[in-house]
Amino acid sequence: MKRSQFALKTFREAPKDADSKNARFLERGGYINKLMAGVYSFLPLGLRVMRNLEDIIREEMDGIGGQELFLPVLGPKENWQKSGRYEDLDILYKMDTVDEKQIVLNPTHEEIIVPLVKSMISSYNDLPLYLYQIQDKFRNEKRAKSGLLRGREFMMKDLYSFHINESDLDDYYEKMSRVYAKIFSRAGIGEKTILTFASGGTFSKYSHEFQTLSENGEDTIYLCEKCNVAVNKEIIDEHNYCPNCKSADLIEKSAIEVGNIFKLRTKYSKPFELKVANQKGETKEVEMGCYGIGISRLMATIVEVTAGEGKIVWPEEVAPFKVQLISLGRNVEANELYETAYNDKQNILYDDRDDISAGEKFAEADLIGSPVRIIISDKSLSAGGAEVIDHQKGRTTIVPLDKVLVRID
Ligand code: ATP
Ligand code: MG
Repeated sequence: MKRSQFALKTFREAPKDADSKNARFLERGGYINKLMAGVYSFLPLGLRVMRNLEDIIREEMDGIGGQELFLPVLGPKENWQKSGRYEDLDILYKMDTVDEKQIVLNPTHEEIIVPLVKSMISSYNDLPLYLYQIQDKFRNEKRAKSGLLRGREFMMKDLYSFHINESDLDDYYEKMSRVYAKIFSRAGIGEKTILTFASGGTFSKYSHEFQTLSENGEDTIYLCEKCNVAVNKEIIDEHNYCPNCKSADLIEKSAIEVGNIFKLRTKYSKPFELKVANQKGETKEVEMGCYGIGISRLMATIVEVTAGEGKIVWPEEVAPFKVQLISLGRNVEANELYETAYNDKQNILYDDRDDISAGEKFAEADLIGSPVRIIISDKSLSAGGAEVIDHQKGRTTIVPLDKVLVRID
């Protein structure tokens, strides 16, 4: 992509009402634009980051048998009444249709997917089943704040698993927990993301959250540094020791919940009568799990834990562009390199603008945050080629022009 053709506008300052590091950085960098509290547009630069996160998540979900579908944003009141959540869930958006029916904007999709799956399965042969989607969710949060961390409209991956018995659910849940750890490490926040024991509701003892350590996190967790697991403060009263080694030596930390896995058991299969016949011919309620990742929150979390003032280096798989090529008055050489990279389908942004100072180009490149930066200038050419900066390795080298692309691959 040539910068001169790319729909991007960055700013010297963040907007006054940006209340958090991720909001300041992402709005200043032209990734997102605030429409109103908790609601943001994703601009081409920001969407590239979100799509990269979606790609990682899709690959990992498909890898453990997930099949992608797409459920509606609108839902009927009756489904939510059936589960009891129409009255109980304070964040539910409720609306009327023109023919005077009551509907909701779905904040999560158990009430939609359980009756759907009921129409799809009839016997144990149809199980297990793992269905997921990546889609906008709507929640009437009391305080939408902290940029993409707490939105009223936000992107979520939600997978629902359906099992013939509890032990099959347990096995899949353990697998999912490991896959979640892998996703967060591919997203570059693995080391800071802690498996955290949280309340399991009425149907199971615990659920697990993936909490990323950050001063700006809304959650408080108690971390066992030895085991690298934590307990959420909301359950600490009944569980003020490490669930793993039983030590009471826990450290209080702030964290951001980037994901949550939950054994729903029969919480929803009961009211919706989702049952199948097992091998013995007995009719049983289906055992369920649900597994969420807030994708837009994940993007904000990466910024919270990796960005500095006006500068980021995105993790390799997340970066909107893997390579940024900057020409300082040497467009002939830079054009040639770009054409080769472009034809080779490299994910490269080429700053070809003639009317922008070197300082401005570098400041903007810091906001876009590619892991690799290539500069072609009089200085680099007289030194023997292009200056290649590998931000992840912290290394700058001069590479002959015909070797540059081989080197960055
Ligand atoms: P929270 O406790 O932060 O309100 P939750 O436990 O209600 O979140 P879940 O229902 O577990 O959220 O949703 C799955 C994931 O979706 C969460 O782990 C989180 O990453 C993300 N998420 C939840 N609410 C929001 C929101 N308002 N904005 C952005 N992401 C969110
Ligand atoms: Mg949660």
